[in-house]
Amino acid sequence: MERTLSIIKPDGVARGLIGEVIKRFEANNLKIVAMKMIYMTKAQAQGFYAVHKERPFFDSLTDFMSSGPIVVLILDGENAIAKYRELMGATNYKETAEGTIRRDFATDIEKNIVHGSDSPESADFEIGYFFNSFEVIC
Ligand code: ADP
Ligand code: MG
Repeated sequence: MERTLSIIKPDGVARGLIGEVIKRFEANNLKIVAMKMIYMTKAQAQGFYAVHKERPFFDSLTDFMSSGPIVVLILDGENAIAKYRELMGATNYKETAEGTIRRDFATDIEKNIVHGSDSPESADFEIGYFFNSFEVIC
């Protein structure tokens, strides 16, 4: 079993897609073991995306991620990291597979509805960024 961090981004929450995204997790054997709605400050978004701090889109991305409430979840399952990346689709929604969350709902390379960890190391960092051990169901 493996754990990964998911975020339903401000565009997903604002557009009423929380249920739609969660439905896809439940239909694909990704078990929700923690979940909450929060509203990040700009500084919190900068800390979360610190790996991208040199990228040209960093300022815009962290403005966007702190522009409204988000839902953060921990998903547990076999190959959860890769499985969720597949469900989510590629960063560029125009180039990603049919039936993925981003292909179905993203409107922009930045406003792409969901985040997912990309490796076991990033999953550990990202889970620890949002959750303490009392908030995770064993
Ligand atoms: P992913 O979310 O697929 O792992 P990255 O980690 O590369 O993608 O980028 C983090 C987020 O930054 C993306 O989900 C997207 O919101 C935004 N982003 C990535 N590339 C660009 C870009 N070229 N222009 C604007 N925003 C981008
Ligand atoms: Mg990434």
